[in-house]
Amino acid sequence: MLDKVLIANRGEIALRILRACKELGIKTVAVHSKADRELMHVRLADEAVCIGPASSAQSYLNIPSLISAAEVTDASAIHPGYGFLSENADFAEQVERSGFTFIGPRPDTIRLMGDKVSAIEAMKKAGVPTVPGSDGPLSDDEGELIATARRIGYPVIIKAAAGGGGRGMRVVHTEAHLISAITVTRTEAHSAFGDGTVYMEKFLEKPRHVEVQVLADGQGNAIHLFDRDCSLQRRHQKVLEEAPAPGLDPEARARVLESCREACVEIGYRGAGTFEFLYEDGEFFFIEMNTRVQVEHPVTEMVTGVDIVREQLRIASGLPLSIRQEDVEASGHAFECRINAEDARTFMPSPGKVTLYHPPGGLGVRMDSHVYTGYTVPPHYDSLIGKLITWGVDRETALTRMRNALDELLVEGIKTNTDLHKDLVRDGYFQQGGVNIHYLEKKLGL
Ligand code: ADP
Repeated sequence: MLDKVLIANRGEIALRILRACKELGIKTVAVHSKADRELMHVRLADEAVCIGPASSAQSYLNIPSLISAAEVTDASAIHPGYGFLSENADFAEQVERSGFTFIGPRPDTIRLMGDKVSAIEAMKKAGVPTVPGSDGPLSDDEGELIATARRIGYPVIIKAAAGGGGRGMRVVHTEAHLISAITVTRTEAHSAFGDGTVYMEKFLEKPRHVEVQVLADGQGNAIHLFDRDCSLQRRHQKVLEEAPAPGLDPEARARVLESCREACVEIGYRGAGTFEFLYEDGEFFFIEMNTRVQVEHPVTEMVTGVDIVREQLRIASGLPLSIRQEDVEASGHAFECRINAEDARTFMPSPGKVTLYHPPGGLGVRMDSHVYTGYTVPPHYDSLIGKLITWGVDRETALTRMRNALDELLVEGIKTNTDLHKDLVRDGYFQQGGVNIHYLEKKLGL
């Protein structure tokens, strides 16, 4: 087992990783910016190192600073969490070159999946269903581009191969706009991501976002941990997630789960990962793979009983997966509400001092949060201050628990989006299950 892990992240996920390390008897190093001295995991870690000023660029994204912190504390491995450097292949490479274990996939896998064109190609080869599209980067040949779009059928979407966070995409409804849309997306992709490669896909009009959690040990063993539905999104940011995804076509579901597992074996995947799909009319279409632990991983943990971060740590220690596919069962239902320090209506960030914090509790209720009464939410980072997760024997029970838990949650001194969640969990369409990715924005009148 790893001896000492440096946690290259902050907030709730840093605390989540710290807890998993403690359970496994692994020593921990917290790194923090000057604005983050008060973080809960900094107090709880065996050692803490200040890695720079408040700005993420100079602290949590500062590779030399992180590697120096690992050196001075004699850490054996680095856990990147999510966001920040978690999907940065150069970081993973530098970590390994400096003699530390990167808790995640090999750098070449991160690179393969970081380029959407190569990711889609690899997935197609492995038998994962993809969106009908250009099968590779777009050329400059106008005639060819027009023919490709006609073959796929309008509307189409032009996407940057290096895109992320919902940026670098443009929908095209008619041929008259095709070439200019491609030119503009290419230019934008070049300036935003330093790579002007774009590709074309069929634009699905009312899909759901369904994703598959996987774990693989890089030694030939891979399992899936079933699916999650993350269709409730605003500006491509997930707001509320659940597991399993309700009402999927059982055969298509079984096929896609198995194809994800097989793809992991095929590409020699190592670590935790997520295959993201759009799901429409009973069919799955791969859009991208995330090569890290995700914010919404707890809903999967609640229904499968598998501790995903613990498995990440075991895999990074060189151990084989502790569970076989036939031993993984999904039982009951789980929801997760992302609690953000922001106005529930305007979505304006609301940093500041938390004068009262009371997390909900009881059977089937889990609160993953670094917040405590007296903690000041700094203005420099993501506004996520916690994740409220509930589990129940069925969807209705889990949802009832979520309604009650949201009523119990008290955060005073700053604004939070709790009221938005209270509204969502009482929404008739959401209660039925299976709303598409546009539902939340429509409901919000956006
Ligand atoms: P990113 O890496 O920026 O998140 P994705 O490829 O995951 O990019 O796409 C982000 C979002 O854009 C999807 O969740 C979906 O809402 C929308 N989208 C992407 N591709 C398509 C498509 N082919 N049809 C419809 N919507 C799409």
